[in-house]
Order: sequence, then structure tokens, then C-alpha cells
Amino acid sequence: ARTILLNNRPQGMPTDDTFKFTEIDLPALQEGQVLLKALYISVDPYMRGRMSEAKSYVAPYKLNEPITGGVVAEVVESRNGRLPQGAVVLGNLPWQTYSLSDGTGLTPVDPNLAPLSYHLGILGMPGLTAYCGLLFIGDPKPGETVVVSGAAGAVGTVVGQIAKIKGCRVVGIAGSDEKISYLKQDLGFDEAINYKTAGNIQQALAAACPKGVDVYFDNVGGEISDAVYSLLNNFARIAICGQISFYNATSPPTGPRVEPILLKTKSLMKGFIVGDYVDRFGEAASGLASWLKEGKLQYEENVLEGFDQLPHAFLGLFKGENIGKQLVKVADY
Ligand code: NDP
Repeated sequence: ARTILLNNRPQGMPTDDTFKFTEIDLPALQEGQVLLKALYISVDPYMRGRMSEAKSYVAPYKLNEPITGGVVAEVVESRNGRLPQGAVVLGNLPWQTYSLSDGTGLTPVDPNLAPLSYHLGILGMPGLTAYCGLLFIGDPKPGETVVVSGAAGAVGTVVGQIAKIKGCRVVGIAGSDEKISYLKQDLGFDEAINYKTAGNIQQALAAACPKGVDVYFDNVGGEISDAVYSLLNNFARIAICGQISFYNATSPPTGPRVEPILLKTKSLMKGFIVGDYVDRFGEAASGLASWLKEGKLQYEENVLEGFDQLPHAFLGLFKGENIGKQLVKVADY
């Protein structure tokens, strides 16, 4: 099997040298094990955190060991009664063309429910993140203004559309004109701002949010967020989902103090990790699946073909190369 190891711990932006391709021999299948062929491999911004040594909510990757993450795989050989040959599973697996597993942590996926890749996106971790963060922290009410940063990505696109379903005015912030037109034309956002060309983001946001901001779903942090905070209404809710603008930072981020604004507006700010809501995944997954089936949620993927594309796909997240969920297709089902 081909595999990709963490070659070194990046300082700042990872590079091609962060990754090392190598070939490994898989041992013969033991009783209880399955041989998995990777079909789709997910690249996600949180993986950048795992490349560093710093303590976080998931353990760091080990040097010279495979990078791991969300993978949809096919069972191509089985000595495990629960997972027959031909079954498709979702799991946290190595970046590897083939891998062995004893089945722990693998969830069978129904290939007839939706395209297989959706289980890494709208029906998987990013979709659940959008649903739980927006509805359980943001708690949007009809007529309120919801702002989402990182709006054209895997999580952001779902957040904005759910906010529209809930009857809100939705304003997205993203990094290219193509993304802005996608958000407005295809996803029905009321307004969208290109933070790279807007000049004064605060002014652009104020124009897009004439009634202020009631809910802010933050994927990026930094100056984009500072602009949003200046527009918060009383009792605003802020879901801190991601801070991608800092993931490659080499010194601690600083900025204006937000506490006086939170105090004055009596706003609630809450960081969260999707796993906090595991008890509500059933409800969230069925909500997302029904909206998708009813055509109320649009879904876009950016799929690169071939195992070798994994580093490039991952690095592209930090350059804004993706509209919707970034994935790599490794093999046909
Ligand atoms: P995306 O699909 O949104 O991809 C990342 C996007 O971030 C890029 O396309 C780019 O779009 C934007 N971006 C990159 N660098 C910057 C920057 N310096 N400033 C502003 N925007 C930037 O990824 P996901 O949807 O998977 O994840 C979105 C966020 O949610 C991430 O921060 C991630 O860590 C977080 N997350 C948190 C979870 C949790 O449990 N709390 C779970 C899943 C994700 P653009 O062109 O707009 O710059």
C-alpha cells in the first residue's frame, strides 16, 4: 500500500516537505480483521493542528507515522462477520491506499443513501458541525441576521443554507468573487462579501447588515471577526467553530479586546467541538438528510483525483482553493 507520513512538524504554512510518500507491505489478514481500500479521503483544516506538538482536543500526529483522518473505504477482504466483503465504511483511517482494521470505530455506510463522498461532508463531520453549532449555539430566529465567515467552505455553505431555512437574513464572508457569486446566486445568501477585495470590511459588513448582527458563526477569526463584533446586536450569539486564519501563525494572535462589546451587548460567545454534540448527532443527521432530499440544501464538492493529490488538496484549504468540501478520490467503488 502507498502511505503518507508526517515528515516534519511545519513552522508556519506546511509545504510539500511536510509529507513523505512511502510504500508499505501489509501483513496477512488476521481473524476479525478487514482489508480496506480507500475510496475518498477527506482533508480538513483541523489536521494542521495535529501536525504541531501543542496540546489540543486531539492528539498530535506522530512523526514518521501516517497522517490519519476521515476516509470512506470499501471492504475488499474480510475475516470479520460484521463487515462483509463489499461493505462500505466510514472511519478515521490512515492516508493509505489500503489499510487493515479490526473494525473498531468503523461505521457502515449505505451506498444507496447518497453519494459515498457525502459522508465526509454534508452528511458527515462538517455537516454535523454546521448543524449543531448554528442551531444549538447560534439559535437563529426568523428575521434575525446571521453572519458566517469561511462561508464558501464545507461548513460555511451548510451554515448559511440552514440559516436561510430558518428564515434569517444571511451574510457570508469569503475570499473570491467566484465564491461570492456562488453564495448569492446558487445558495441564496442575501449578501456576501469578498474580504480580500472589500477594502474596509467593517463598512462593507455594516452595509450588508443594516439591522446589525444577531448570530455570528465564526470559521476564521482575526480581522474578519473584529469587523463582525463591532456590529453585534443585544443578546447576539457567537459560535466559535474555527480560527483558520491563525492555524499557521508562528506567534500568538492579538487584536482589539472583544470583552467590552460582549458586556455592552450582553452577547454569548461559545467555542465548540462537534463531538460535544454526539448525543444529538441522530437528530442532526436526519435533519440534514431530509433537507438534502427535499432539495433545500445544495451541496458542492471540490474533488481532486488520485492519492498523490492529498498534500496539494490539504494545502489548498489554506489558500482558499476549494468551493464546498475538499476531498480526494482515491479509487472507484
Ligand atoms: P473549508 O472548506 O471552509 O476550507 C477552508 C477555507 O478557509 C478556505 O477555502 C478559505 O476560503 C478559508 N481560509 C483559509 N485561510 C484563511 C484565512 N487566513 N482567513 C480567512 N479565511 C481563510 O473548511 P471546513 O469547512 O472544513 O472548516 C471551516 C472551519 O471550521 C475551519 O476553521 C475548521 O477548523 C473548523 N471546523 C471546526 C470544527 C469543530 O468541531 N469546531 C469541525 C469542522 C471544522 P476563502 O477563500 O474564503 O479564504
